[in-house]
Amino acid sequence: MKTSSFLILVASFIVSLLLTPNHALAWGADGHQSVGAIADALIKDTKAGQRVKALLGENTLEQMSVWADCVKGIAPEKDFAYTSAGRFPECAFLENPAAIAAMADYAKRNHSDCKPAFDEESCHKQYHYTNLALQHNEYKQGRVGSNDRDVVHAISAAIMVLQGKPAPAPFNIKDQREAVLMLAHLVGDIHQPLHVGSVYLNAEGKQTNPDEGNYDRGTHTVGGNALQCPCGNLHALWDDIPVPLKRGKGNEVLIQKAKTVAKTNAPIEQWSTWWANDALRDAKIAFASTQFSASTPNQRGNSWSIALPLEYEKTMAKLKEDAMVRAGAHLAQIFTTVWPE
Ligand SMILES: [Zn+2]
Repeated sequence: MKTSSFLILVASFIVSLLLTPNHALAWGADGHQSVGAIADALIKDTKAGQRVKALLGENTLEQMSVWADCVKGIAPEKDFAYTSAGRFPECAFLENPAAIAAMADYAKRNHSDCKPAFDEESCHKQYHYTNLALQHNEYKQGRVGSNDRDVVHAISAAIMVLQGKPAPAPFNIKDQREAVLMLAHLVGDIHQPLHVGSVYLNAEGKQTNPDEGNYDRGTHTVGGNALQCPCGNLHALWDDIPVPLKRGKGNEVLIQKAKTVAKTNAPIEQWSTWWANDALRDAKIAFASTQFSASTPNQRGNSWSIALPLEYEKTMAKLKEDAMVRAGAHLAQIFTTVWPE
């Protein structure tokens, strides 16, 4: 590599570290809101739509799709105070005493019951992802990156609450409204390929399989957050949605496509596992023909540079749109299945 391009790489790496927010908002707010808007449209004028409306009051799934991310503004180390005021425009409508109290209550109840390991975050933040190695074709609990509080389990737990069953530990879901709020967000997350499939890399930047031999925690790429490309970090690049879909501009097109998505052909208890398998398949495409540098240690662990193949934007745009359509359809299908006509 020429010195000049190496310097650019280093500079962009430093900038991206500075820009990386404390918590990555999956799909960004735009993506989650579109997923919610699709589901709002699909359950309109159905019994499921009435039930959701009764639980959410004046708010739509589109608005509430960001709730589980806004909750991350509640800081356990500051006595569960809300510390993100004014930072995220999509959370502004929740920045009032009653809504903040509800978020703090959820964050408290879902903070430490899962007994996070020393390098893991608050339980409810772990509900948003799983980190399966790309060598696998299927989600299976027990594999490195999976656990009892990952996004697969969180979605199943919230569905159980809608069915009138108690939430299994370590989840503490107060009522059906809270379950709807979780689903409105997490069903979006589980369709984001980098929330499910992860590469594990050694110090030389070679892919390793964490499920073979002893798992080295230093090989974890944190769902692509530890992979730096000239455009930022890979996770953030995937969270961002294509311009034609921003701010709901493409929602009508997405809604029409979502109407053609068939129901997952399995019992509802297994849906989140099937959706994770689909996202894992997408993640393999997301990492096809990518190359990695040797690792650079930093305060948070290791980080690697990733080189992306030509026309990567096109590959991403197609996968993202398809995933958002499926997410919106699947969110609606949960409600119409639990509350049929
Ligand atoms: Zn999320």
